Amino acid sequence: MKYIDYYEVLNVPRTATEKEIKQAYRKLAREHHPDLHQNEAKAKAEEKFKQINEAYEVLSDAEKRSKYDRLGMNWKAGDEFDFDPANMGGRTYTYHGQSDFDLGGFGFSDFFSSIFGEDFVHSRRSGGRGRQASYKGEDIDAEISLTVDELIRGTEKELRLSVPSPCAACGGQRFSDRGICRACAGTGVTEDTKTVKVKIPAKLYPGASLRLKGLGGKGYGNGPDGDLYLRIRVAPDGRWQVSGSDLETELVVYPDQAVLGDKLQVPTPHGPVQLKLQPGMHFGQRLRIREKGLPKENGFGDLYFRLHIDIPRDQTEAEKELYHKIRELRQNSVSK
Ligand SMILES: [Zn+2]
Repeated sequence: MKYIDYYEVLNVPRTATEKEIKQAYRKLAREHHPDLHQNEAKAKAEEKFKQINEAYEVLSDAEKRSKYDRLGMNWKAGDEFDFDPANMGGRTYTYHGQSDFDLGGFGFSDFFSSIFGEDFVHSRRSGGRGRQASYKGEDIDAEISLTVDELIRGTEKELRLSVPSPCAACGGQRFSDRGICRACAGTGVTEDTKTVKVKIPAKLYPGASLRLKGLGGKGYGNGPDGDLYLRIRVAPDGRWQVSGSDLETELVVYPDQAVLGDKLQVPTPHGPVQLKLQPGMHFGQRLRIREKGLPKENGFGDLYFRLHIDIPRDQTEAEKELYHKIRELRQNSVSK
């Protein structure tokens, strides 16, 4: 009998969260479902499929996982292992080289049986199936990208979601009387797609998570539906350059405005505002308008205008005349 590294089987780190484990498991279970393969590949998939389900059976259950973690990787094939009864709720497990437990076709390894056999069979046989006749549907995560404008003002969106429903064949219990449920590949759920309309409130900030009650997976029995958690992101915007909760854009001014200063109206995503240019502005200089950027956790980020100094294309003779004059004065002042 060989030690089986269940973390390796699911390809997750030993620190993986419950959610990460579930995601890894579902992905692999779908990939290796025996019904999707033929001939030699089918036998291989079947083997892999069993391993994945076994790993998930252990790592998805806090009690089993901690028992398994305590066993540790130091255990070697052929070793006897005794758990400290103090840690094991007064029970001592002794491995004698052969499984004492009949798993009744659940298809788990001797390694698994030697550690969990009794508990497992017990929980599955003593109404593991009927015990949770009602439970809440799964919460699901999705992402949504909103424009700068939509973040500030709110909007309404249609979303296509992949929503898990409890598997009808096994009632979401992952096992039928004969072993791993084939209908759902032992995941306990089947995925449906649905389209939902959601109202996005104003002033959501990038990175925020919006909880939409009841838009998650279907509940089972009398259990309520799960929730949808929408992670908010900001979509790239041609007009405003986004940096955290700050926005930046270019502002074109003429040389006379840069030299003498000016008062002008500038657009912002919150509507136009008055901007005062000080005399003697330089190319590339940034002007800040406070709190006219993206929403953030408290208030708004800032808006920056990057100065670009340009020359009017339609200069009159009189204007050119004055530039000649300016050049003259400049040359005189430099040569002094
Ligand atoms: Zn099923």
